[in-house]
Amino acid sequence: MASEAYRTLFGWLNGTRASADLALAEETPAEGQQLLDDMIASLPDAAIVLDRDGRVIAFNAAARIIAPALARGAAASLALRVPEVVAAVRDVAATREPRTVEFSQRVPIDRWFSAHVRPLGAAPAGMMLLVFHDLTPVHRAEIMRADFIANASHELRTPLAALSGFIDTLLGPARDDPGARARFLAIMKTQADRMARLIDDLLSLSRVELTEHMHPETPVDLVPIVRQVVDGLQTLAQDRNVEIKIAQSSEPMVVAGDRDELTRVFENLAENALKYGAGGKRVDIGFSERISADGAAETLVAVRDYGPGIAAEHIPRLTERFYRVDVSQSRAEGGTGLGLALVKHILNRHRGKLTIESETGHGATFTVRLPLIHSRDAEQS
Ligand code: ADP
Repeated sequence: MASEAYRTLFGWLNGTRASADLALAEETPAEGQQLLDDMIASLPDAAIVLDRDGRVIAFNAAARIIAPALARGAAASLALRVPEVVAAVRDVAATREPRTVEFSQRVPIDRWFSAHVRPLGAAPAGMMLLVFHDLTPVHRAEIMRADFIANASHELRTPLAALSGFIDTLLGPARDDPGARARFLAIMKTQADRMARLIDDLLSLSRVELTEHMHPETPVDLVPIVRQVVDGLQTLAQDRNVEIKIAQSSEPMVVAGDRDELTRVFENLAENALKYGAGGKRVDIGFSERISADGAAETLVAVRDYGPGIAAEHIPRLTERFYRVDVSQSRAEGGTGLGLALVKHILNRHRGKLTIESETGHGATFTVRLPLIHSRDAEQS
């Protein structure tokens, strides 16, 4: 059986059945098995070669992850445990026609695959190649896209419904009521501003995502950027009765970056600290430098507030689009739920990272980490 299988393999490798016997004459079964194992191991997807009876001849490491019980010489159906795939193998053995089936696994995590069963060589000795293509990333991206559209539509529909309702009221019952008109117009303005902010954030997010693989190269000093952001937020800080302070830093902190995008990062973080951490009455921004685990110098900018903090279960999800700890509080603060998602994407583009540390009742620290470049580079720019 095995020699028939190798004969078919080499016939197939050489492109003609006629050359199979020639090839086989020079190959021992052990060399043939090795060659087959090497070929299968080099495939990026999980792959299994079966003989015509569905017994396993070779498989790669990726296949073992999908079907841990795979064993050479044993029937593949014992290890595969996916009825659709077992049926496809049986069909291909009988018809020698290729088949593709899709299936999903729930354990240990949700995963989706397409299984491609192809006949190798011709009957009667013909083998079969079973390749599993992992569709999980595509499925996840589809789910995320659908969720995102649903969330964005919902966020836009709420202010739109309010605007539409007030327009009807102003055209109807409140037509001749100047007091109501002034009040309603003010609310309408707030709702229209909210829609505009949402659209601005959505556009910024899609722009950053589109350029995420292009890393900015211009050297920029973070210190003046952060100072400018803090100056710009003084009015908000006074309104909230919060003192916002930058720890003195005489040294430039130079990174390769896009000035506008980095400004947006610190604006979002400092504004959040002022809005959600106002109860702490103080926001501190500090700079530091350190050598990261992989030996590269990096700069850290920490935005610390002393407000209510964030419960641990929310922290890993804060940078998801539209994720908010308290939706009504975020809306009341004019939030869109996109600020930290934008921060994360901008930092990805800058080869940087955001870390969030918080303890309920003890404020929160949002730390931006970016690779540091030599300050001389900045002076030349
Ligand atoms: P938003 O537009 O809602 O502010 P963000 O993405 O900027 O959106 O923030 C997401 C959520 O993270 C906020 O709604 C808030 O619940 C929480 N959050 C952000 N910063 C802080 C902070 N400094 N303290 C407490 N909660 C915060």
